[in-house]
Amino acid sequence: MDSTLAKSIEYVKGVGPARAEKLSKLGIDTLADLLFYFPRDYEDRSKVISIKDAAPGETVTIKGEVYSLEKSRIRKGLELLKVTFIDHSDAVIGSWFNQTYLAKNFSKGEEFYLHGQISEKSWRQFKKKEINNPVYEAADSENLVHTNRVVPIYTLTKNLNQKQLRSIVFRAVNNYANKLNDWLPAYLKRKYKLPHIGDAVREYHFPSGRDSFIKARQRLAFSELFLFQIRLMMEKNQYQIKKGYSHPPSTELMADFLSELDFKLTSAQKKAWHDIAGDLEKNIPMQRLLQGDVGSGKTVVAALALLAVVSNSKLSLYMAPTEILAEQQYFTLKELFKNLPVNIGLITGSSSTGDKEKILERIESDNLNIVVGTHALFQDDINYKNLGLIVIDEQHRFGVRQRQRLMEKGENPDLLVMTATPIPRSLAMTLYGDLDVSVIGEMPPGRSPVITYWRKRDKRRQIYDFVNQKIEAGDQAFVVTSLIEPSDEMPNLISVDELYQQLNEKFLPDKNLGMVHGQMTAADKQEIMEEFKQGNIDLIVATTVIEVGIDVPNATVMVIEDADRFGLAQLHQLRGRVGRGDKQSFCILIADPKTEDGIQRIEAMVASSDGFVIAEKDLEIRGPGEFFGTRQHGIDEFRVASLIQDQKVLQIARKEALRLTSKANWEKKYPDIVNKVSQLEVII
Ligand code: ADP
Ligand code: MG
Repeated sequence: MDSTLAKSIEYVKGVGPARAEKLSKLGIDTLADLLFYFPRDYEDRSKVISIKDAAPGETVTIKGEVYSLEKSRIRKGLELLKVTFIDHSDAVIGSWFNQTYLAKNFSKGEEFYLHGQISEKSWRQFKKKEINNPVYEAADSENLVHTNRVVPIYTLTKNLNQKQLRSIVFRAVNNYANKLNDWLPAYLKRKYKLPHIGDAVREYHFPSGRDSFIKARQRLAFSELFLFQIRLMMEKNQYQIKKGYSHPPSTELMADFLSELDFKLTSAQKKAWHDIAGDLEKNIPMQRLLQGDVGSGKTVVAALALLAVVSNSKLSLYMAPTEILAEQQYFTLKELFKNLPVNIGLITGSSSTGDKEKILERIESDNLNIVVGTHALFQDDINYKNLGLIVIDEQHRFGVRQRQRLMEKGENPDLLVMTATPIPRSLAMTLYGDLDVSVIGEMPPGRSPVITYWRKRDKRRQIYDFVNQKIEAGDQAFVVTSLIEPSDEMPNLISVDELYQQLNEKFLPDKNLGMVHGQMTAADKQEIMEEFKQGNIDLIVATTVIEVGIDVPNATVMVIEDADRFGLAQLHQLRGRVGRGDKQSFCILIADPKTEDGIQRIEAMVASSDGFVIAEKDLEIRGPGEFFGTRQHGIDEFRVASLIQDQKVLQIARKEALRLTSKANWEKKYPDIVNKVSQLEVII
């Protein structure tokens, strides 16, 4: 990069110390920062109309010459400047309060572009067209910045207005954009007909035409995605040159385990296990994502990996996102390994110090093979010897860096990340671009898809009669609501307590109900879940704490109250709690959605039971930031690229990044790229 671009913004014409301070609040410290401070939106002011056609209330751009000026003092402290402009058709007044000093800018006969809203009030009162505080620009100016063009709209800060910032950026892109070093290899620019970085930056701030704008945008999006993919590949390559453990699975132990199961692995499970076994055997640390819809049977595949590591006398950690799931997986694994020489421990945030100490002692004395837990597993004060494998279950909330931190708990242990969230390809490539992927794309046999109904709230009687029938026939049910406490702000929504009472008293008085919510202790929740599993409880009323992982095949009905309050991915997870056995299952969505989005979401759920279809739809409706319920690292942070709009660009960027990084010595050949990657701001 030309060294001018690294200079403080203060030295740019039109920016002094005071403005520099304001710009700094926007993250703009250098000239380069300014060039890459892109608009959040645009306004089309390129259509100039005659004054006659400018209707009151309308926001317009017009061209007129100064006809007269009038300064007046309305009262003390309130001065008014009125400038009348005319064109061949009509007249319009531009008025400014307490800015009479502007008068010097307007001399009679001079032409200006004006932009603003024709005041309805003036029209009503005086039958005159008037614009309060219009944007104005001399028509003979060589470079029009604010009018007669598509203008950029920037995110602002206090005491810095659109016009000021736009002018600063305009000057900067015209004087300095061509000094930007174009690090993108020429062969790629040729191949995809991408403009020079300087041209792209200028065009993206101040579009000159539709086609050139689209090209500029493509260039910038491609650059971002390309660099990001290269970074992921560099991360991945770093692992591949690290030496890890080799865990060749013991054939005998595996065979024992499989013969004890009361089912056969599906071919998708076999394939996934085959991939994993291959990774375990290599002495390069495994970095694999196991993706499979809810109920597809990931646990047993993970269990095989755990067993392989046990058979090599190494320790494994199994991390679940919540305490209730950690406990449940702990029991599931205990059950799966009950006839095998495997010792399992549990650590969660609410484990007592004593319990934790006992587990730590057992780890210390090599007495445990597997420790299951929540994040608590990775507290600083816990050290693991012989850590061979980390399994992260149901965890899409982890960026690359966070995963690496976990890996540092051992000496390059193998890593298996499992997710049931069907992640659209574009997101998977970004979030998990550094991982190898295995997909379990098939359900265990004998499952028929859950039948989903959408009902309005006035049908609750019928809905719960149906639930009643199912329970009488020996099935079990879940009822989920989004609220824990009754809320004044949302009086129409049902809290979990109220719902529990209603069901107990009104809808299902002679059934055995249990309640589970996030504010209960883990032990209490676990107890209720256990009773439910045993069949002593017919129906569980719950908040979304049951969202993931709960496995009760006899549960066949999932009722979701106020279903429009949930995201699609979440609804799909909830629905996945039923349909886990061979009986026909049902999901009933109770909702009166008020918005178009809300209706679309519910309809998407009724229309499809395919997690991928739903996820794509969700991404489309809500955008990537909302997709997971929280902002995600690495996916919301591109300045230009959008993972929804730019899926094609992403695919190309990934392909080219892969091609480039697999060339020998590419880093020596493209030092600019390496440098750029190291400056990448996107968090991974
Ligand atoms: P998830 O992928 O959502 O974690 P689980 O591993 O909890 O799914 O499996 C869901 C249910 O399916 C469990 O009851 C499990 O025992 C059962 N299951 C897993 N694999 C098979 C299979 N190949 N055949 C029949 N049932 C299976
Ligand atoms: Mg699971």
